[in-house]
Amino acid sequence: MADKEMMERAEHVLYKTYNRFPVVFDHGKGVRLYDTEGQEYLDFGAGIAVMGLGYGDEEYTQAVKAQLDKLTHISNLFYNAPSVRAGEKLLAVSGMDKVFFTNSGTEAIEGALKIARRYHYNKIQGGAEGEASKGARPERPAGEIIAMNRSFHGRSLGALSVTGNAHYREPFAPLIPGIRFADFNDLDSVKALINENTCAVIMEPIQGEGGVYPATEEFIKGVRALCDAHDLLLILDEIQCGMGRSGEMFAWQHYGVKPDVMTVAKALGNGLPVGAFLACGRAATAMVPGDHGTTYGGNPLVTAGAEAVLDIFESRRIVEHVREIGAYLWEKLEELAASSETVCGHRGMGLIQGLEFTVSAGPIVSKALLEEKLVLISAGEKVIRFVPPLVIEKADVDEMVKRLRRVLG
Ligand SMILES: *Cc1c(COP(=O)(O)O)cnc(C)c1O
Repeated sequence: MADKEMMERAEHVLYKTYNRFPVVFDHGKGVRLYDTEGQEYLDFGAGIAVMGLGYGDEEYTQAVKAQLDKLTHISNLFYNAPSVRAGEKLLAVSGMDKVFFTNSGTEAIEGALKIARRYHYNKIQGGAEGEASKGARPERPAGEIIAMNRSFHGRSLGALSVTGNAHYREPFAPLIPGIRFADFNDLDSVKALINENTCAVIMEPIQGEGGVYPATEEFIKGVRALCDAHDLLLILDEIQCGMGRSGEMFAWQHYGVKPDVMTVAKALGNGLPVGAFLACGRAATAMVPGDHGTTYGGNPLVTAGAEAVLDIFESRRIVEHVREIGAYLWEKLEELAASSETVCGHRGMGLIQGLEFTVSAGPIVSKALLEEKLVLISAGEKVIRFVPPLVIEKADVDEMVKRLRRVLG
């Protein structure tokens, strides 16, 4: 067993909110990871959908190292070029109008929720936007936000408030008020919650942590239409399914809808902590100077990383690659599902796919890691989520399936 002493030290110092697997990872190369004892693992988790380009990518690493030597942080009181270039590229691939860089996914969600509240506040001030409306008292209650059951949006108190998992929320109540939960892929359940104070709907186009559930086209288009009819902002959380993972740059691009606000993080920095919220149209001007801020957010180091990621996506046609390998993974998992008695479902798109089991996924994940040196992660109780580095090849899929078959017996 790898590095017992380090694991014991970890348990003494690190606040225990995780039950970790007994492996200490040391370095990685491509889609392979190595523990401190030099054992090699095949990685189909990508550090929870983060390491899109895999480990140790030469071009990415050089870009980050060059920025590290130049300037890492200067604060948002000043301009820095990497944040501008990364921002321009992110707007170009999304068609959004404005971007705000954050340090994490949950902070991107906080920003998106603040846009929704600010938008509603501006509206009840009689359409007045901007500085002039600040400090005035709204006469109607705060804006309500409709979120989805089974969703996941993060662990900070605002993001937790819209996360559709009561077990995560309950110990920290009361959370922010005015949140109502509808059922994902049930348009009537959304419709039923809309009232005159509703200001936004938030959802993942493909629910990730909840068990890999893609939205139906009918649902996401229906929600878009409801938002248009009632002047609500549609917030799409692309933190996990975005950045090429679904086979489009952003999953909503499969459906022919466009959000007013979207969030990204995870694969944006390929391991550097950077996220963003993006807005377009009326949502892009709802907040004004003084409304939101961050000390680290968008610093030149992390945005140089994001810029390199976006450049590499374009030059190496990563999204096209995901489509091709995603289709291959789909085929192989269909075969596995058909021949395994414990698999009862297969869902997903591109390189975010899930297999649902009739039994608990935890022991399968654990056995795969320890006995087959295969890194898999679960999503919910009975689902294994396949979110590998986007640069995997067919041979890696074959190898993964071979090892997983041995685990399943
Ligand atoms: C991971 C995730 C978040 C939270 O991101 P953090 O960087 O962990 O704060 C939010 N939404 C979705 C869909 C996620 O998958």
